[in-house]
Amino acid sequence: MKKIECLAMILAGGQGSRLGCLTKKIAKPAVPFGGKYRIIDFPLSNCANSGIETVGVLTQYRPLELHTYLGTGETWNLDRKNGGMFILPPYAREKGADWYKGTADAIYQNINFVENYDPEYVLILSGDHIYTMDYSWMLEEHKMNKADATIGVIRVPQKEASRFGIMTTDERGKILAFDEKPKQPKSDLASMGIYIFNWKLLKHYLEEDSIDSSSSHDFGKNIIPKMLDNKVRLYSYSFDGYWKDVGTIESLWEANMDLLKDTPSFDLGSAWRVYSATPSLPPHFIGPHAKIKNSLISSGAVIEGTVENSVIFSGVKVGANSKIINSVIMPFSRIAENVLIDKAIIAQNCEIMTNSKIMSNDGSVIVIAENEIITPINNGKKQVG
Ligand code: ATP
Repeated sequence: MKKIECLAMILAGGQGSRLGCLTKKIAKPAVPFGGKYRIIDFPLSNCANSGIETVGVLTQYRPLELHTYLGTGETWNLDRKNGGMFILPPYAREKGADWYKGTADAIYQNINFVENYDPEYVLILSGDHIYTMDYSWMLEEHKMNKADATIGVIRVPQKEASRFGIMTTDERGKILAFDEKPKQPKSDLASMGIYIFNWKLLKHYLEEDSIDSSSSHDFGKNIIPKMLDNKVRLYSYSFDGYWKDVGTIESLWEANMDLLKDTPSFDLGSAWRVYSATPSLPPHFIGPHAKIKNSLISSGAVIEGTVENSVIFSGVKVGANSKIINSVIMPFSRIAENVLIDKAIIAQNCEIMTNSKIMSNDGSVIVIAENEIITPINNGKKQVG
């Protein structure tokens, strides 16, 4: 196999339990986003655009739809003879089969795959973040610092800091301390779950970690703290663009709404293309009485009612006299007539019957699971929540 400088591994095998019913049937990286994308489109497009041509995608939980979507990697120009995209589910070996126990274990179980390419560096990514980023700049900085490992970092609001790996650095970006999801965060500098490691060193740490029965085999909880203890050269790489971890219902809804802001904090129309495999559908149709404001409407959608501040995916139907506000309606869901939906995420292929009302009474985001049929209860006055 041809030796390559940098190989990427995308972690896409978590349970995604915090997305509740949205990940009951599909893996989190396959969840639809932004009118025509799936979450995994972002790291895959970033790899292709950054010139990283060999990418392993580690899958495990509910992988069927994700595998079908990934196909040969053609969508992201990653179907190649040398390198390309490889789907890496857990597999049985001589000593039996094991699920991926944690993020580090998932890479450990694929050491042979990585070794095939004998890379100098390995870029580890998460399959559940929305951002566009040129990884080649991060690699340059990693080399300039003569680092052993570099972690992508971004400043987050202090009140959200305990959801992330939080670090402190010196003025040159050298990491001095790292706490995974601390109850009392000491800074607002959060790990973006993007790591570059010198492969030989990482391999050593993964092998050591694999025989440590007290470890949960996780990068943030085990590998990074161990490296810091051992005075390994760990650097941060600061990113100041748009980045969002969409691992919770609220953050997934917010990231969709961010696309509708006046001065979009995140511009999907920029030269840095995000590729996605979307079905071939006719243009969207806006009926004679429809009213649409500040919304994204995808191909194949048919709008007869009112849509405001919402993201409408391919093939969605919105009936006459229905009103969709501040909501995300995923592919092929059908909203009948005289329906009110406010601050909700409606998953794929749902049917919302005439006179239904979907809105929360406490300001939280309401979610309707894939393939659900919602009928009005109490003559359309009862709220679903
Ligand atoms: P949740 O905490 O809601 O159950 P999760 O299981 O996906 O979500 P995260 O901490 O959000 O856990 O995982 C970060 C990233 O690593 C995600 O992209 C996830 O798919 C991936 N991941 C987590 N555990 C594994 C694993 N054992 N094997 C492969 N990928 C994993």
